[in-house]
Amino acid sequence: MEKVYDVIIIGAGPAGMAATLYASRANLSTLLLERGIPGGEMLNTSEIENYPGFSSVLGPELANKMYEGAMQFGAEYAYGDVNDIQLDGHIKHVHVGEKVYSAFAIVIATGAHHRKLNVLGEEQYNGRGVSYCAVCDGAFFKNEKLVVVGGGDSAVEEGTYLTQFAKEVTIIHRRDQLRAQKILQDRAFKNEKLNFIWDSVVKEIIGEDNVVKGVTIKNVKTGQIQQIDARGVFIYVGTLPNTQAFKHLNITDEEGWIVTNEKMQTTIPGIFAVGDVRAKTLRQVVTAVGDGGQAGQEVYHYVEQLKEQIHE
Ligand SMILES: Cc1cc2nc3c(=O)[nH]c(=O)nc-3n(C[C@H](O)[C@H](O)[C@H](O)COP(=O)(O)OP(=O)(O)OC[C@H]3O[C@@H](n4cnc5c(N)ncnc54)[C@H](O)[C@@H]3O)c2cc1C
Repeated sequence: MEKVYDVIIIGAGPAGMAATLYASRANLSTLLLERGIPGGEMLNTSEIENYPGFSSVLGPELANKMYEGAMQFGAEYAYGDVNDIQLDGHIKHVHVGEKVYSAFAIVIATGAHHRKLNVLGEEQYNGRGVSYCAVCDGAFFKNEKLVVVGGGDSAVEEGTYLTQFAKEVTIIHRRDQLRAQKILQDRAFKNEKLNFIWDSVVKEIIGEDNVVKGVTIKNVKTGQIQQIDARGVFIYVGTLPNTQAFKHLNITDEEGWIVTNEKMQTTIPGIFAVGDVRAKTLRQVVTAVGDGGQAGQEVYHYVEQLKEQIHE
């Protein structure tokens, strides 16, 4: 007979690892599935300075510590790129290619990815001046000139945030007005360290000796090309949830983020979601871990009640 785990957790970022820790410590049989290596976006982060308990910690180091902690109470770990979840009464089947794993509860912790500009230099200088996270990397650019690409809430909010570190921040936007909320715009226009370049798109991120030196931009109305000096390029042209495999479950909002209540429950009993993949306002390690702990605990209650019900 197939093995039925109490819970399968999909994604070994901080949210999934915290859920694994809480579920396995509550004595649930727990399987953690990951398509890459454990750590999630922490592996793409050089230093983390805003995780309580550490004045500064390397992302991969924190990832290793979390992984050790998550696995210490007997959870199983397997490689797997989950491409489907099928519902079957009280049991859920998780598909990884031809392989199928089964459980009473599922925690989706698959995170999100940043929309890329897809221009020359973006991959090459990623982590060497190109960033998608001002809260994470802004403090590394004290008194430097920075560029922010985008015109929505994130670009304007994060651009404003960056002015506390930077000498000057230039927001480059492809239209002639911002999409951001009015209140954010008003604050930004009053900020003397913020400049705006309108109707322009980034064509290339340029660098020297492995660090960013600036961007080449093109005015979409006049066709004029110019170069802007900058040590950092922060890209905010959208974030996309990793929810392709779960679309058919109808647990996402119109942008694809999974909607939960504060217990991390989706509208499907026994399916939970945690971390960046959720519809939420602050996507950070500390909130991911909080979600994971909450879900681990709620899964425990769910599975206990379900087993009582089955045996009645
Ligand atoms: C460059 C950068 C720097 C950052 N710096 C900081 C910082 O300094 N401080 C801070 O608090 N936050 C920082 N963040 C944000 C932080 O990393 C995220 O908020 C956090 O990692 C979210 O955790 P998560 O577990 O929800 O998702 P993720 O960390 O994205 O982990 C999701 C995991 O799920 C896996 N996965 C996805 N789809 C599947 C699938 N179908 N099957 C199996 N596995 C799957 C992925 O491979 C990944 O390992 C930074 C982010 C970036 C990109």
